[in-house]
Amino acid sequence: MSTGHPDGAVAARSLSDHQRHIVPHVMVYVFATVPALALVAAVPLAWGWGLSWLDVGLAVVMYVISMLGVTVGFHRYFTHGAFRARRGLRIALAIAGSLAVQGPIRHWVADHRRHHAHADAEGDPHSPWLFGTTPAALVRGFWHAHMGWIFEREMTNQRRFVPDLLADPDVGRVHRAFTVLTIASLFGPAVIGGLVTMSWWGACTAFFWAGLVRVAVTHHVAWSTNSICHMVGERPWRARDRSTNVWLLAIPSMGESWHNLHHADPTSARHGIGRGQIDISAWVIAAFERLGWATDVRRPTPERLAKLART
Ligand SMILES: [Zn+2]
Ligand SMILES: [Zn+2]
Repeated sequence: MSTGHPDGAVAARSLSDHQRHIVPHVMVYVFATVPALALVAAVPLAWGWGLSWLDVGLAVVMYVISMLGVTVGFHRYFTHGAFRARRGLRIALAIAGSLAVQGPIRHWVADHRRHHAHADAEGDPHSPWLFGTTPAALVRGFWHAHMGWIFEREMTNQRRFVPDLLADPDVGRVHRAFTVLTIASLFGPAVIGGLVTMSWWGACTAFFWAGLVRVAVTHHVAWSTNSICHMVGERPWRARDRSTNVWLLAIPSMGESWHNLHHADPTSARHGIGRGQIDISAWVIAAFERLGWATDVRRPTPERLAKLART
């Protein structure tokens, strides 16, 4: 995988020679893949007694709903205003995003707006580049960007970063309902699994796979946008930070891993631009537009893209 070399005006800020160190490079792949492979290895072991098609179906449905709630809702709509949404869609997106258990909506949006305001510089809540560029510093940076940052007790200033959401009573209700929505997200599949199989065991396996495992996978995929998509990958667009495009994560992240274009043009409803850049969130936004639920969808013009392209 190419690491890409910033050029021109960006060169003065560039630290890309250090990306070629093999130790942090390998560590990123180890952290990103080994736990996932362990999980995949557990599937055949559990199949038939601790995992059923019902569990798989519930997990996939919950994954898609909660992930799109974050990518289309929390991220592209609430954080960046990539389109306008009717009230029903707005509330549904806020609830769906809360089911991903990544924090209440106002905290999520405030942290993410702060990330863009200070991307990969002092003040960014989750940049992997804050500790230096030695191999040890990059391992620490990866951990911090991926999940270490969520353990910080300092909360992003909502009055500064999300005054619009503080003034929105619908968002306020969903924000305050976060605990209830978390319980629903984890135990809702258990209730369905128990009722369909009419057994406590069916409730247990649905809770484990469609509740716990599904939330863990959505967490790691979402966090990978903060860690992997600021460390390794392609940089075809002129972003003022170290964001990258990572094709491998395009489908599980619902298009969010085209993260270099996103930082170059944050209000665009589409992050995947160009041939083969699958962006499921952008397709969903287009579907909402055709249904009349979303309007004023922002998409970059060819002229703008020509300006943003690095080559
Ligand atoms: Zn970013
Ligand atoms: Zn963003």
